Amino acid sequence: MPAGPLLLIHGGAGPRSSELMLDAFENYQDGLTQALEAGGAVLQEGQSALDAVCRAVMALEDNPLFNAGRGASLTEDGTAEMDAAVMTGDGRAGAVAASRHVRNPVLAARAVMEHTQHVLLIDPATELTDQWGLPTDSTDYFVTEHRQRQLKEVLAQRENAPRYGTVGAVALDKHGNVACATSTGGMVGQKLGRVGDTALIGAGSFASQDSAAISSTGEGEAFIQGVVAHDIAARIRYSSVDLQNALEATYGRELDQRSATGGTIALTPDGRALIAHNSKAMFAGYWDDGLVQTFV
Ligand code: ASP
Repeated sequence: MPAGPLLLIHGGAGPRSSELMLDAFENYQDGLTQALEAGGAVLQEGQSALDAVCRAVMALEDNPLFNAGRGASLTEDGTAEMDAAVMTGDGRAGAVAASRHVRNPVLAARAVMEHTQHVLLIDPATELTDQWGLPTDSTDYFVTEHRQRQLKEVLAQRENAPRYGTVGAVALDKHGNVACATSTGGMVGQKLGRVGDTALIGAGSFASQDSAAISSTGEGEAFIQGVVAHDIAARIRYSSVDLQNALEATYGRELDQRSATGGTIALTPDGRALIAHNSKAMFAGYWDDGLVQTFV
């Protein structure tokens, strides 16, 4: 008897949530709740874990508060270059990097998986996204005033880049299948063309029926260097350690030793779930049979 359906999401990790204004808290909480309800409804209707993670991530991409889709963090040139990836427990994967036009990068990542023989495309051409039936927008659609102000502050070095807002989801459907999806605008003030861990399968996202579905947020370069998501899964697969111990071991070895911070959500095919971070705070939540809980 499968343990699902279950859905976990995150909305980024960062310094300390008490540094956010109270109204911002509420808005983040509402955004997370809406995404959980949207993804949860998909699971309740009996659709796949992949459908659910895409639906939840789309809701967060459409919400300008989060660092994904509209409202993505900006490059040092003031443009949005977005990364996204999806992976299913049977080992299929798709991703886009430095995407500039597709309204929902997570859907482009899914289309790469389902409609091409590739895993990763850089800024898919509009001929392709039109073929896939995906709405596109001008580059201005993604740029918000809030992100422009934030970029100014970061470039003037008056502010450390807060990293809240990268989004991700992991789900377990009623058939016992797991999937993950992650989407981000990357780091504030990043170089044009920089690709982070989110687009790289095994770094920020990984899913396998013999271990877990995993989605991460944090200092992307360290997640790439430590191949963090795959390292967690490999510990479960080869050392038979449980999810919590696998994550702690990987964080200790790959993140702490690099003085890097971030957060991870993970879900095993038998229904064990984990929300963990070594950053001061993380935005996250879960949906379990209609029950919604958020953490900000
Ligand atoms: N991991 C993302 C990146 O490096 C950023 C984040 O999660 O905040 O692109």
